[in-house]
Amino acid sequence: MQPLENVFLPVSLPASVASETHGRGCDGLAPAFGEAAFTGALAIAARKVQALLASQEIEGVRLERPHALLAAARSLMVDEAVDADGMAFDADRFADILDLYLRTGIKVNSRGYMARQFSSVVPVSAVFDLVSAIAPQPASYYEAGQLANVADKLIAEQFAPLIGWEAGTFEMVTTSGASLANMTAVLAARNRRLGQSWQQGVQPQADGRRPAIAIGGDAHFSVSRIAGVIGIGQDQVIRLPLNDRRQVHVEQAAQALEQAAARGLDVFCIVAAAGTTSIGAIDPLPELAALARKWGAWLHVDAAHNGSFLVSDNLRPRLRGLELADSFCLDAHKTLFVPALCTLLFYRDPDSAAAAFPEKASYVFDPLEDEMSLFQSGIKNFECTKRPSILNLWLVWALFGRRLFEQKLDYLVMLTELTHDYLAAQPDFAVMHRPEANILCFTHHPAGLPAERLGDLHLELRNRIRAEGRYFLSKVELDGVTVLRLVMMNHQITMDDVIDMIGEVRRHAREICADWGIAAGAAAEAEMIFSPQTMSKPC
Ligand SMILES: *Cc1c(COP(=O)(O)O)cnc(C)c1O
Repeated sequence: MQPLENVFLPVSLPASVASETHGRGCDGLAPAFGEAAFTGALAIAARKVQALLASQEIEGVRLERPHALLAAARSLMVDEAVDADGMAFDADRFADILDLYLRTGIKVNSRGYMARQFSSVVPVSAVFDLVSAIAPQPASYYEAGQLANVADKLIAEQFAPLIGWEAGTFEMVTTSGASLANMTAVLAARNRRLGQSWQQGVQPQADGRRPAIAIGGDAHFSVSRIAGVIGIGQDQVIRLPLNDRRQVHVEQAAQALEQAAARGLDVFCIVAAAGTTSIGAIDPLPELAALARKWGAWLHVDAAHNGSFLVSDNLRPRLRGLELADSFCLDAHKTLFVPALCTLLFYRDPDSAAAAFPEKASYVFDPLEDEMSLFQSGIKNFECTKRPSILNLWLVWALFGRRLFEQKLDYLVMLTELTHDYLAAQPDFAVMHRPEANILCFTHHPAGLPAERLGDLHLELRNRIRAEGRYFLSKVELDGVTVLRLVMMNHQITMDDVIDMIGEVRRHAREICADWGIAAGAAAEAEMIFSPQTMSKPC
């Protein structure tokens, strides 16, 4: 074996450099890392964000062609051949980059934004996010993220009475996104049922049955991916049929599980939804919990969207049965209005949380449980370095209390219900469902449009409305037909905005029909059946 000194040659610094570095570090980096760059950048950013928050402009999104944006962004990069000597903080370049970012972003703070589940955030939580980015507390380890790990416990404490679980008898971990939370929960379910699978991989059981999971017909795509990720295989995914409210159909689900068992499948986990992405439907949780119990399966509820209804006295009853789940998750970055990503994953049985990742690496985890390791979240989580985004939620909760979330959610759901009633009263519109959340799907039926072109019309409506840049709606396919979809995330939107937006839908539809050579029949537009006085003022 070579002596070590031959392998690792000692680095000898030139005398001049060596003496310079004594007590001073690397001066050349000061323009980038120093305080002046920070305060300069902060002042610019503060001005721009202030203007953004103050703006009353109705705007959705401005889509750039990707190649044009690529060129614009490239032109903002420092030319190292020209600016070869040293770094300098270029405030103008920084401002230009911010402008480009803000210009191309979805306008979640505008009343024109009605498209998606991304939320504007409580501004102080974003300010805190900046602080926690600069003074990080990687949240997986107690030693590095003390307050973050304590905040996990505090938030769990707040949720305990809302769920109906006794504080200290359950476990909550935070993950970066519901996609990861859903996967983690189903992995825990797998490891619980198939004790050997972590070590040996997933294999048929001794009696030859193949492990399987059952998911709702409208499950989020992250849920349908799980089987592929954790080695169950897509062929072992049972899709549970939906009823006419697009919830899992209880009787047909029971039959589907019988048939699965008859085919030699062992369904170890049922994934239900509380707030489907498409329409916000909540599955019948008590019935699905009973079904899971019957088959000895774990019930996970993907409550990414509606789980936050727990904070509202009005809306909480809609989640009846959530307390029976073995696990559920909710996205605080969607419906608790804090910066992404911040997902809470709850386990009814605290031991289940540790089942997801039974292996423990010695360089981060102490072999003996002590006071500190009991607070450490990393052993229950896939993530290593993790933003302490739970602190954004805890901060808002600490400053304003639960009522802030409650008031905003109540308003958004009420606004969606009023929009439903308004559209239902229009002869040229149809609503696809009664909203259970702040999501509403609807169709527009201009006179003279053949039924088979309805889907094309809605796709084109979404595109043209988006391209115009004032309102931003989304679309979704329900039973093979593309329909328009509203997600109300902004509490400044009023019924006046909704009525204005619907006027835009009509106008664009007239133009599209004209372009398609469809003669508009006697358009029967309803005159204000609905009185907008009820809600012209925002929350
Ligand atoms: C948004 C959403 C997800 C995915 O969550 P991310 O936080 O974006 O990873 C999963 N399920 C439902 C129902 C959702 O609405």
